[in-house]
Amino acid sequence: MSMIVQKFGGTSVGSTDRIKRMVFHVMKEREKGHDVVVVVSAMNKTTDTLVRLAGELSSDPSKREMDMLLSTGEQVAISLLTMALHHKGLEAVSLTGRQAGIQTDGVFGNAKINSIDTDRIKSELSKGRIVVVAGFQGITDKGEVTTLGRGGSDTTAAALAAALKADRCDIYTDVDGVYTSDPRIVPRAAKIDTLSYDEMLRLATMGAGVLHPRAIKHAKEHHVPLVVCSSLNEGRGTVISGRTQRNAPIVGVAYQKDISVLTMFDCQGGESLILYDLDSHHIETEIIKYQENLVLIVKDQDFHELKRIVGQYDQAYSHTEEREDLSKVSVIGQIKSTHEVKEKVTNVFHDYHIAKASLWESPVGLSALVDRNDVEKAARVLHMHFGLDYVESRRAVL
Ligand code: ADP
Ligand code: ASP
Ligand code: MG
Repeated sequence: MSMIVQKFGGTSVGSTDRIKRMVFHVMKEREKGHDVVVVVSAMNKTTDTLVRLAGELSSDPSKREMDMLLSTGEQVAISLLTMALHHKGLEAVSLTGRQAGIQTDGVFGNAKINSIDTDRIKSELSKGRIVVVAGFQGITDKGEVTTLGRGGSDTTAAALAAALKADRCDIYTDVDGVYTSDPRIVPRAAKIDTLSYDEMLRLATMGAGVLHPRAIKHAKEHHVPLVVCSSLNEGRGTVISGRTQRNAPIVGVAYQKDISVLTMFDCQGGESLILYDLDSHHIETEIIKYQENLVLIVKDQDFHELKRIVGQYDQAYSHTEEREDLSKVSVIGQIKSTHEVKEKVTNVFHDYHIAKASLWESPVGLSALVDRNDVEKAARVLHMHFGLDYVESRRAVL
């Protein structure tokens, strides 16, 4: 029998009215005869509220207790959705991450899924039930509750779709697909019909928050098509699979506002231990080598941990500099003539009075650090000058 995994994000479960709308999407797939597994995020800003509450009690709360706290948000949402499905006469059951067999490693706050024991889900499906699973959470082999990092419900959905060999994983969110840039910030961003896993991974890694990067990796590894679509309307959405239909070299412009930068000066080679440590704590770090200096860029939420780790190896560098006033903007795509493109970005920033702290190329494209207050403007002007604006030709003008 065919199987669909559906994931609903925070705004899609933002109110009881929205939950009723979700029921409509679930019933639609059920009526087509699919087995349906639904993954749900916490309602609206619940996770932010829980983070804030913890912050009012402690400046450095225990990571274990944070995961215990944050995992409650998804549990509220799964039970409410399941009740709404029952009300419509549908057979459904809600499962926590543990009940769904989601085993993770022990990195609290940013755990990775090691394996999924699908027996319970399969047994519920075989009884004709819709299975509603709490996103963003799992359990370690020692029985500890973990969370998968902010936005991690996407990863729960894609990993379940992979483990269950689902035909598709539909990601319902508050936009009707993946755009050439964040449509809330770049009004002329254009919707993209199809993307390859790698293109989506590049966009997401550089900040396109519409999908959690690890979700794309799970889907790619197991060849599960992902469809990003709106829970509020019935448009076609964006299909992400092994294929691309694009011929333009530039895919889009992404930005990451909430980043922090630590520069280690005069590194003499001992920094590999630092990078190993960061990796084992799953701290996603962009590393730029600049002469003898190493620039480390992480999400704001990981900066405290980054500084703690770097501080343990103070013999590996002469001194450090911290910057919390910068943000990153990236042009994603295959950039052949790097020198020309760098010059173009520099000129655009000059014309629009955007001061850049640095500009570098990476395997995914070209990125710049700019003043945090300028990053949204930078995304808009780069989007326009690289020919991505909806009203203009989609082909990049390089
Ligand atoms: P959910 O709660 O459903 O997981 P998210 O807030 O995590 O939703 O992701 C959806 C948001 O991603 C959109 O509201 C949009 O502002 C943002 N976004 C950033 N970059 C892009 C992009 N390239 N295409 C579409 N949306 C994007
Ligand atoms: N509720 C979690 C968060 O807000 C996970 C998710 O929404 O995917 O980050
Ligand atoms: Mg999300």
